[in-house]
Amino acid sequence: FESKLPNLGTSIFSQMTALANQFDAINLSQGFPEFDAPELLKKQLNHYVLEGVNQYSPSSGVPRLQQQIAQLVKRKYAAEIDATQQVTVTSGATEALFVAIQALVREGDEVIVFDPAYDSYQPAIELAGGKSVNIALHAPDYAIDWQAVTEAVNSKTRAIIINTPHNPSGKTLKQHDINALKALVSKHDLYVISDEVYEHITFDNQPHLSVLRDAELFARSFVISSFGKTFHSTGWKMGYCIAPVALAVEFRKIHQYVTFSSFTPAQHALADMLEQQGEHVDELREFYQQKRDVLSNALKESRFTILPSEGTYFLLLDYSNVSDLNDVEFCQWLVEQAGVAAIPLSVFYQQPSNDKVIRLCFAKHDATLLQAAEILCQL
Ligand code: PMP
Ligand code: GLN
Repeated sequence: FESKLPNLGTSIFSQMTALANQFDAINLSQGFPEFDAPELLKKQLNHYVLEGVNQYSPSSGVPRLQQQIAQLVKRKYAAEIDATQQVTVTSGATEALFVAIQALVREGDEVIVFDPAYDSYQPAIELAGGKSVNIALHAPDYAIDWQAVTEAVNSKTRAIIINTPHNPSGKTLKQHDINALKALVSKHDLYVISDEVYEHITFDNQPHLSVLRDAELFARSFVISSFGKTFHSTGWKMGYCIAPVALAVEFRKIHQYVTFSSFTPAQHALADMLEQQGEHVDELREFYQQKRDVLSNALKESRFTILPSEGTYFLLLDYSNVSDLNDVEFCQWLVEQAGVAAIPLSVFYQQPSNDKVIRLCFAKHDATLLQAAEILCQL
């Protein structure tokens, strides 16, 4: 059998969580919250299931959820969105990313991807017949060199994928990044896929610079988010894509044959949640900033160098002072011998990276974070 994705193995997230379970380690590897989804959300899901709201929803989403999403982005980003035509509810951001990439990328097209990159972009580009052009960003600041991006653009370039706040670095794009992106995209007729799944998790009073804030940039963009991050419900696999009408039409052509529609009772429950407890979204920043600070304060006395986290629920540690192993070997050692599971950064790069950096997820109870930090401080 000739594989269409010959170089792909099992995702690092599945691998590390399996190892964490096998060695009974504290799992700070795969990104998911240790705390539960809000009571209202669970109660409403139960309600709709028991009420018999269990059949297909319209392919693009339950209208009241589309409306709530449009209202949310109006409140947050002053974006005027037509809920019916522009918001498509998907089975997680992963589906939205896949569909947006299939809608955009044609045989032979190039897509600019910034490494370290979330692992679902690459296979989706390849399956569409495209080729990624990976621009590597490195510790400690993971800044984008827009001159290098400009040089990477050619007549085959179709799209640029951005992710802010960024998994795994915790870096957020700044206004000068958005300006540079906008100039490039309009000059070369490119499209943007903006992965904003951590949009509500930015720290130190930094605003999230959604592409939705900029009408000109949004006119060429697919903006993707996930309720998994926002409502501590990664297992529900609910997300959405917002796009200009012409792009949304293309997106929906594919979405209808990937999943057709997403889990109906969850869509109603999410609409209730946004309608009745909208403040949850605004509380996430403070909630996660406190978690970030608990973990980084507890690691202050360790031999790890803590890199800045401006958003997401990830913290990077440079372990050069702790071990000479490469990052994959170090994470293997860490889970087996020390009992803490982390993610090695090099797996997020297409080209080899020798950075000695690992990613920890701090979406955990304080006690879990303190317990992990205590172990890490002894290394
Ligand atoms: N993009 C990024 C950057 C992510 O971290 C994640 C979640 N791990 C996703 C997309 C996928 O989100 P979902 O679980 O809603 O498919
Ligand atoms: N997004 C999560 C992370 O970065 C994991 C998602 C997954 O397991 N596919 O850890």
